[in-house]
Amino acid sequence: MKPSRFQYVRPASIPEAVVALQRSNSKVLAGGQSLTPLLSMRLAAPEVLVDINGLTELAGIEVRGSELWIGAIARHQEVLTHPLVGAHVPLLQQALTHVAHPVIRNRGTSVGSIAHADPAGELTAVAALLGARIHVASAQGVRDIPAKEFFVGPLESSLLHGEFVTGVSFPIFESSWGSSCVEIARRHGDYALAGVCALVHVDGGLITSATIAIFSVAGTPVVIDVIDVCDESEKLDQKVQSLIEPDTDIHATAEYRRQLVKTLVVQALTEARSNAESRRS
Ligand SMILES: Cc1cc2nc3c(=O)[nH]c(=O)nc-3n(C[C@H](O)[C@H](O)[C@H](O)COP(=O)(O)OP(=O)(O)OC[C@H]3O[C@@H](n4cnc5c(N)ncnc54)[C@H](O)[C@@H]3O)c2cc1C
Repeated sequence: MKPSRFQYVRPASIPEAVVALQRSNSKVLAGGQSLTPLLSMRLAAPEVLVDINGLTELAGIEVRGSELWIGAIARHQEVLTHPLVGAHVPLLQQALTHVAHPVIRNRGTSVGSIAHADPAGELTAVAALLGARIHVASAQGVRDIPAKEFFVGPLESSLLHGEFVTGVSFPIFESSWGSSCVEIARRHGDYALAGVCALVHVDGGLITSATIAIFSVAGTPVVIDVIDVCDESEKLDQKVQSLIEPDTDIHATAEYRRQLVKTLVVQALTEARSNAESRRS
């Protein structure tokens, strides 16, 4: 199918972009890897498409204070290979190895992935787990949205009409922290049937903080503090299973997804602990 008619606007500055986005039924175009298929299938039919790829101030990856800032037009591939990301927020790279295929990662943006709020997206889980800040601009000015308030449902965020995401900041984690992202997908690069990101803090060989974010099992990532149960596999599974509500669809039953989560949670925590130990040494 062909997309319905739309006006294409390519602003040269953020003020120009926010003016274009004030028009009714407007939509941001970033890497186009999720939006273009939606347009072609007419599941999205915006009247105005605002292409943000000319906003060079939104390119790049930088340390800003105690956070790592990723600009809205940084591609997945740049995030996957950038040394600052590997040094400060390795979970982003651990997650991105599971995202799609090289040709999609060359064009798709990591911030666009978060703005898209796909409950099966690895980076939604990373943003939720790490407590990222989503930076937003509109004709009303700028504001920051904490990740836990940003994801409100499947493909639904708390962005208001006329707002767009200029970048996302992630807290920098010292070497006593370790992380991991594991998932099961039907083929490598497909969206996960279920997946788990884990973040642990290790002090003197003991885990002193343990949190997980589970994706593809609810409308938004499910973040759970598991420090009280992380050494007792039965209690760990009971706690996790009581907080997820996976669906049955054509790819997997809800019961199968629960089984995957049981295994993946243990695997993610084990890997995160081992990554913390190797980061310190
Ligand atoms: C075959 C295939 C497999 C894939 N597999 C995976 C996978 O395994 N895991 C995964 O996470 N993703 C996967 N993706 C999606 C891919 O990661 C996309 O690149 C990503 O979801 C969206 O990024 P984008 O820059 O392409 O955004 P676009 O497609 O341009 O936009 C997507 C949506 O987000 C909005 N948006 C984008 N940027 C902004 C912004 N700055 N401010 C406000 N709104 C914005 C758009 O308006 C649109 O609604 C896959 C895609 C394909 C085609």
